[in-house]
Amino acid sequence: MFGRFFSSLVLLISGAALGYFWAQSQELQVTFYLVVGSLVGAMLWWFLDAIRGLRVVYWLRYGNLAEVPNTFGLWGTVVDRTRRLLREREKAINASEQRLKDFLSAIQASPNGVVLLDENFQIEWCNQTAAFQLGIEPERDLAQRIGNLVRDPIFSAYMTTSDVAEPIVIEGRGKNPNMPLRISIQRHPHGEGKQLLITRDVTVVEQAEAMRRDFVANVSHEIRTPLTVLAGFVETLQTLKLTAQEQDKYLDLMANQSHRMQSLVDDLLTLSRLEGSPVPGFTSSLELTQLMEACQSEAQQLSKLLFQEKIAQVIVFETDPVIQNHLVLGEPRELQSALSNLVSNAVRYTPQGGRIEVHAFVSKDGNLNLQVKDTGPGVPPEHLPRLTERFYRVDRSRSRESGGTGLGLAIVKHVMQRHGGQLQIASTAGQGSCFNLVFPATRCKQAEAV
Ligand code: ADP
Repeated sequence: MFGRFFSSLVLLISGAALGYFWAQSQELQVTFYLVVGSLVGAMLWWFLDAIRGLRVVYWLRYGNLAEVPNTFGLWGTVVDRTRRLLREREKAINASEQRLKDFLSAIQASPNGVVLLDENFQIEWCNQTAAFQLGIEPERDLAQRIGNLVRDPIFSAYMTTSDVAEPIVIEGRGKNPNMPLRISIQRHPHGEGKQLLITRDVTVVEQAEAMRRDFVANVSHEIRTPLTVLAGFVETLQTLKLTAQEQDKYLDLMANQSHRMQSLVDDLLTLSRLEGSPVPGFTSSLELTQLMEACQSEAQQLSKLLFQEKIAQVIVFETDPVIQNHLVLGEPRELQSALSNLVSNAVRYTPQGGRIEVHAFVSKDGNLNLQVKDTGPGVPPEHLPRLTERFYRVDRSRSRESGGTGLGLAIVKHVMQRHGGQLQIASTAGQGSCFNLVFPATRCKQAEAV
């Protein structure tokens, strides 16, 4: 302000002085030219000031922050202050834009779908997950009414109701017959009539729930059957006068049924132990020959029991000489249970006179194979993919007659997964089956090497 006052004063005095000296040199009236000179000085100051002011106004209107007009004094201060204010505003805008970007990219990364709707249910924004689940094209469908894009009647009804506490579940749009998609949608009204939709893929949850229901139904069914038979026999023994011979027969049948229940409960406990315990490490192990011998004697006993004869089936166990003194690294009880389940299946399903071969060898890729081959009825190809499901049986009565629980192969598959290996199944209906336990090379070591 002082500069402004000082500069105008300088020009005013300079103009007056020039007028004075010029009037004196020309011998004119001094007072008149003194006033004219000071007026000219004032106008010159005003003119120069107006030019500087106009440059600042032009810059404010059209200029950019990087090219500021080179000026000083009051206009210089105006320019500086304005530039600082604009810089601060620009920074604040950049920061809030960045925050918005971060926020949107976090919502993009969310496993849940998010759709923002305006008060007319028109799409304002949606993330990729919601777009995939609801079949929306995020850019093309912007400002479209969601009801025109998602035509499921359950969804339409949900969008009109005021009761939005419970989510709804509809078929997802990305569905194809091999990959069904179930989507849960919850509506959250917010602001003035705006809506937030949260979508979630609940396919796996629903499948798990269905599996849990099936499992409970299967277990109840499996237990109810022998229980009903047992109850019937108990009633018979209580009400009828039976001879000692008849009583023995009934007690034998009852023992059979309780045996069946026992096996089922044992297998269920094994499965739950497998699901609940940590993955087996490499510190515990089982001698391969010991494993083979134990399963061989089990197989022979079971074969005798089933066929009530001395030689019902030919059972051959063979371990390749190179791995005779090897150990299988893993949980001994689980390893024993895996091979013994396969061997017992082979014995149970192979008819009298059939042949069962169990062969332990290391394949070319270094993996340890425990292969169980039989000449039984085999499994038709359409059943093969489902054999390891819990309670899945090709021939229900055959399985039950021979004391099967329907859980054996599920246990084997689980054990193999826990040991980093796999169960391979090859079978031809009418010709026999080959079940192969394949362990990674790291699970098989020479006895001294451990
Ligand atoms: P189960 O207790 O019924 O034998 P598993 O889970 O061990 O249950 O086997 C599932 C089904 O696979 C069996 O019911 C049977 O139909 C079929 N299966 C298993 N092993 C053999 C085999 N060696 N030969 C023919 N079918 C088999």
